[in-house]
Amino acid sequence: MMTFKGVPVSKGIVIGRVFKYSKRKPIINCYKITEDQIEIEIRLFDAAKEKANKILREIKKEADHDLGTMEAQIFDAHIHMLNDPVLDETIKDLIKNEKINVEGAIKQAVDDLSEKFMKLNNNYFKERLKDIQDVVNLILNALDGKSSKLIDLFESSVIVAEDLTPSETALINKERLAGFVLTEGGMTAHTTIIAKSLMIPTVIYVEENILNHVKNGETIILDAVKGEVIVEPDEETLELYKHKIVLYNKKEKELLKLKDELSVTRDGCKIELAANINSLDEINSVFQVNGDGIGLLRTEFFFLKEEHLLDEERQYRIYREIAEKMKGKPVVIRLIDIGGDKDLPYFDAPKEINPFLGWRGIRISLERQDIFRVQLKALLRASCHGNIKILIPFISSIEELRKVKGLIIDIENELEQENIEYNRNIEIGLMIEIPSTAILADVFAKEVDFFSIGTNDLIQYTIAVDRNNSKIAGLYSPYHPAVLKLINHVVKAAKNEGIAVSVCGEAAANPYLVPIFIAMGITELSMSSAYILETKKLIRKIDRKELDYHLEKVMNMTIASEIEEYLISMNLR
Ligand code: PEP
Ligand code: MG
Repeated sequence: MMTFKGVPVSKGIVIGRVFKYSKRKPIINCYKITEDQIEIEIRLFDAAKEKANKILREIKKEADHDLGTMEAQIFDAHIHMLNDPVLDETIKDLIKNEKINVEGAIKQAVDDLSEKFMKLNNNYFKERLKDIQDVVNLILNALDGKSSKLIDLFESSVIVAEDLTPSETALINKERLAGFVLTEGGMTAHTTIIAKSLMIPTVIYVEENILNHVKNGETIILDAVKGEVIVEPDEETLELYKHKIVLYNKKEKELLKLKDELSVTRDGCKIELAANINSLDEINSVFQVNGDGIGLLRTEFFFLKEEHLLDEERQYRIYREIAEKMKGKPVVIRLIDIGGDKDLPYFDAPKEINPFLGWRGIRISLERQDIFRVQLKALLRASCHGNIKILIPFISSIEELRKVKGLIIDIENELEQENIEYNRNIEIGLMIEIPSTAILADVFAKEVDFFSIGTNDLIQYTIAVDRNNSKIAGLYSPYHPAVLKLINHVVKAAKNEGIAVSVCGEAAANPYLVPIFIAMGITELSMSSAYILETKKLIRKIDRKELDYHLEKVMNMTIASEIEEYLISMNLR
């Protein structure tokens, strides 16, 4: 049994089976073996070779189908290499005579071969080295029990990986998925966001060596409340956790009793609690907790799951279905926001050194109006079937906003001419997620109907800390005084202009920040459904008037960690 620590980002406790997924080269452990281990290591090698053969034949079949026979022949060469009798003999000799474990023997055989090839100083042989390395990696992965395809999940899989991209996450078969254990990841990375929305227990920043210790199919306990991962637990621990899961579920059920209670502070201030969703399936979770609407629908996730762009009719039907299902409650639909860490696999965007500062969000939409106009038209057509509002992401200047508003008017005119119904009073809101926009909030407030503060990006751009980089995760703080000052400034600007303002980044569900947001004057928070009821519980304990004192104190503090400590010590949770 081994225990690993990490940071919980999507709550829950589960017992499942390890599904290891790695894009990195396998880590090779070399050590000496005893006489009686020789047979075992040789059998391991034969089994791994057989598995690698099977995988290669499957890949070849797929390549045959997708690329044609000529291109698929490369895999014949790989199969040939894998079954080369000299390689086989060399590895087995090393195991038998030098008494090296199988992984070590493979490594040594390949190192010797590389040395010989390099001495030949011939490009053809140098190129072949890459192929040999591919084949060897296949054997090493097979030895390690790794599977390379996320679609092969087995029942109750807990995926153990360095990190996943949002498109990999979107494609996983959720019915078989029990949890995520990531050694990297990010508090506000989009993989985390999807996990939260789908209520999949997730722990990130887990000690990296977990990947060397787990094997596919092993029992794993994932405690995404405490931030603990236990591999191959003993009987006693397993029993303890079965009991913990019962208690946890009981507590969650208790929270459900708050579902139909009002979300009001003790002194009667109503705080709307809406949901962030990224797919149609998530609407049921919003109903389960009786959310006050959809505060953020990230439309790019509909595109991430497909193999091509969505046409107008398809989008119209999706938006209409959501609006109708929400029966008049607000549905804030955010215009497509691709780029950054959300790459559409089929969208031919150039690779960038700084994708978060590059061709992202509205910058893509304004250039690719073929995509953008289709979305706007679908959205406006759907707008007469419910309480749809438009949310514009990633705006950094007034010019950009005006261009988007101009396009909306264009599409409205088109609809008029075609005699197609739409809501002529549709509200248009702005994501405040770039410091320039936050600073100019008073100007922007005159141009839109509402603001939605996207703290995930606002934090990363204000303090120049990549939201997905685990190396500097300690610097990514929602308590940074500059961030809080900007948010306060935005709320004041919205109030002065009489427009609504909400928070929709992950900080909206942070129990230590919620009171501060409420003290600033925020009356709407939007978050994953999984966090709505516990936030409601917290709000019902708060007296808004009592918070003025704390807000003033916090706004006078200059150090993030001190602000965090202060807010935690308020102990309102
Ligand atoms: C944000 O930036 O806070 C936000 C809500 O948008 P996203 O997480 O999709 O970038
Ligand atoms: Mg954002």
